[in-house]
Amino acid sequence: MSNPRRAYQWLRRHSVNAAHLASAMGLLGWDQQTMLPTKGHAARADQMAALTGVLHKLSTDKRIGTMLSRIEGSDLVSDPISTEAVNVREWRREYDQSVKIPAKLAMALAHAAAEGHAIWEKARAASDWSLFAPNLEKQLALAKEKAECLGYAVEPFDALFDDFEPGETAAAVEPLFARLRAALVPLIEKARKAGPAAPLAGEFPVDAQEAFLRSVIADIGFDFESGRLDTAAHPFSSKIAPGDARITTRFDPKDFTKAFFGAVHETGHALYSLGCPDEHFGTPLGRSISLGIHESQSRMWENMVARSRPFWERYLPKAKERFKALGDVRLETFLAAVNRVEPGFIRVDADEATYNLHIMLRFELELALFRGELAVNDIPAAWNEKMRGYLGITPPSDAQGALQDVHWSMGAFAYFPTYTLGNMYAAQFFQAAGRDLGDLGAMFSRGAFSPLLSWLRENIHRRGRTYRPRDLVRTVTGEDLSPEPLIRYLEGKYGE
Ligand code: ZN
Repeated sequence: MSNPRRAYQWLRRHSVNAAHLASAMGLLGWDQQTMLPTKGHAARADQMAALTGVLHKLSTDKRIGTMLSRIEGSDLVSDPISTEAVNVREWRREYDQSVKIPAKLAMALAHAAAEGHAIWEKARAASDWSLFAPNLEKQLALAKEKAECLGYAVEPFDALFDDFEPGETAAAVEPLFARLRAALVPLIEKARKAGPAAPLAGEFPVDAQEAFLRSVIADIGFDFESGRLDTAAHPFSSKIAPGDARITTRFDPKDFTKAFFGAVHETGHALYSLGCPDEHFGTPLGRSISLGIHESQSRMWENMVARSRPFWERYLPKAKERFKALGDVRLETFLAAVNRVEPGFIRVDADEATYNLHIMLRFELELALFRGELAVNDIPAAWNEKMRGYLGITPPSDAQGALQDVHWSMGAFAYFPTYTLGNMYAAQFFQAAGRDLGDLGAMFSRGAFSPLLSWLRENIHRRGRTYRPRDLVRTVTGEDLSPEPLIRYLEGKYGE
């Protein structure tokens, strides 16, 4: 089979077949977190391990390399943004990544991560960094080994970063983050001096919360014939297959905003997944680009749409029909409560402004670790020092400081910066959408969300993996990635 077209057809079938199995695995994973009876967990872990093995065999099949080499350089892929060229580029990237890591290293990484998670849970409960440090040391060494296998142009960190955010490097992100930090620190300091707005107090019956939430996400564009909303301990969004994207949330009867904004966030992820072209399902062109671009979609709907004034001009009266506790709350008071800025210790509880500083702190520490400028034992002190510098507060314990996140315990380094990149992409896309569509706020206040969703579909979702993140930003907005739209957006919001 030397014909490039036939080699391409083989790769396409192989890729789609693997994607069907990955879908089945996704469904097992969703079920595990939402429905699975307690005693079924052990068997489920075995099922998922078995499927992981099958998928690993498929992704490292040597025929992939042979077929790719028959296509690369041929006329079939001469136009770099054609369907064939994009898929071949991404198949090559995925194949190289899966075969570059020796099986022995892959097993050591998986083992250290599984062990790490259990050790981290204990260390966090005891708030004792010294319990976790030896495992982190081991995982860091393995991650550096992995980076050497994958290869990089400038520094080892980039090899791992590229996995989550294709084409991105630490050196390219550092100046953007530095500019954002310089703008955010004084903004947050001002908000801190003014004191945070009061949260919304009262009883919010779970049934009423769920009914309200379902009506709002349906208005935004979540199609309940293509998805589900369920409850889970850790909210997430999972695209199972075309026409099947599932989101979860967690209700707190004392605070309706947690489930509400969490679910709108996950809706943003689901809208992106469902907007990827079905006809390319199972191939790279049918997939989302990166973690950061995914996060830009969830954060845009959560923050730029659902925390805005025009949005609540429409929905506060509707919320009041459901929740007695909101009876005499004025729009101003409500907006202040859902947009409060308050430096805190915990990243996952952070507001839109302080969140980015939590991310930068982690990014800077990770880089220092990879560059050999920081020792694992010195992380807690360095962490607390940065918390003081950026947010003006000192964590009372490592459980509320360097031990709070699960990521490092699973060997996920270079993951954190994708969150702030997501915020930057979101602001830049939102600004471009406003330029193209006119007054978005006026649309939100009448419940018209489809112009924004259609714009996102056409400009971002439908394009699948055609572009790398930075190229997508340039193509869609006409400008290079910049922190300025995010800074303007936050200054506009918190300057009010
Ligand atoms: Zn997210």
